[in-house]
Amino acid sequence: MVQIPREAPWRAFEASEAEWDDWRWQARHAIDSQAQIERFVRLTDDERRGIAHARTALPFRVTPHFLSLIDPENPACPLRRQVVPSAAEAEEARGELRDPLGEDSHSPVPGLVHKYESHVLLLVTDRCAAYCRHCTRRRLAGGIEHRREGEGALNEAAPSARDLPRAIDYIARHREIRDVLVSGGDPLMLSDDRLETLLAALRAIDHVEIIRIGTRALAFNPMRVTERLAAILRRFAPLYVVTHFNHARELSPRSVAACGRLVDSGVVLDNQTVLLRGINSEAAVLKALFEKLLVARVRPYYLHQLDLAEGIEHFRTPLRTGVDILRALRGRTSGLAIPHLAVDLPGGHGKVTLGPDFIESVNASGTVFRDWQGEICPQPYPEPRERDCGCPGERPREQRLD
Ligand SMILES: *Cc1c(COP(=O)(O)O)cnc(C)c1O
Repeated sequence: MVQIPREAPWRAFEASEAEWDDWRWQARHAIDSQAQIERFVRLTDDERRGIAHARTALPFRVTPHFLSLIDPENPACPLRRQVVPSAAEAEEARGELRDPLGEDSHSPVPGLVHKYESHVLLLVTDRCAAYCRHCTRRRLAGGIEHRREGEGALNEAAPSARDLPRAIDYIARHREIRDVLVSGGDPLMLSDDRLETLLAALRAIDHVEIIRIGTRALAFNPMRVTERLAAILRRFAPLYVVTHFNHARELSPRSVAACGRLVDSGVVLDNQTVLLRGINSEAAVLKALFEKLLVARVRPYYLHQLDLAEGIEHFRTPLRTGVDILRALRGRTSGLAIPHLAVDLPGGHGKVTLGPDFIESVNASGTVFRDWQGEICPQPYPEPRERDCGCPGERPREQRLD
């Protein structure tokens, strides 16, 4: 087996440092077969079966950069488990769904998901630099050539550039849309020119105030964030880039530098993390990740409860786990380091958030809280006559926006 030297990983690929730092080189040299990965990683039988299964499902693919971060000898490595398939992906658990978030039924035109009033999801590609084994859009991601038999060679639902004009036209005709989340696949798989054309088309729509780009490139292929890309993105402010990091070890020096380039270009960075059993399902692991993100100037935004996509039960935690983790974090790290815990409901009902309940009881003289250290703290009402504030035990009052 070839050892990948930590300080000079390009040597294991017989490449120069300049090639290694070229995002196109990383994309061209992505590892996507058992033979290729076995040059660098001691696979288990389970992983070999997983890679074989991936040929007819969500493809197996990992960039040399991300491969250089995984432990070649330890199948439990939290980075390895996110990109190397396991045989468990072939199993379907009760309640799992092909389209777990009901996106296809909330898609007025191909490539666009319109679930909420003011913000939409625009899917611009089905390709990624590497494929997360917990992918929620595994029904689409990874290209048409890999689709399951019986579903046809061509996956009609997969987003493609072809659909973009119609989706942009839809956004232009719907004045209520003020925030467009560009996702996929990974939008940073597009060339600079195509990305620029897309962003310019969105910016030309008066009522689109905010553009967001959801990407995992900062973890999988941080080389993608060139000075040129950063300069392009700068022109389309207010622009948010939503990164996807699940473990502190993904924040390699190159990823941290890429985050810095974006922030220095006026891009606001938020991160989403997927809660994954045995990978980051402990408070200490997430605390390390969230604190490292903040230092890299990325604000932890969402911690996602794993959805009901097919074949990912082995990653799923009980709902309690996320709530317990947030409770453990409160008071023990900066509030800035604590994201929202989101559950994206099936059937297109959208996201809701969960959080720990610090209220112990409510009685006539006030509310009894339990503080972050577990101590009881009664809080009398400051104004006993103004009790109609929607707190537990009081009459709820709906707050309306229209
Ligand atoms: C998550 C999501 C959004 C963005 O939601 P925010 O809570 O604003 O981050 C928009 N549309 C769809 C369909 C989504 O799944």
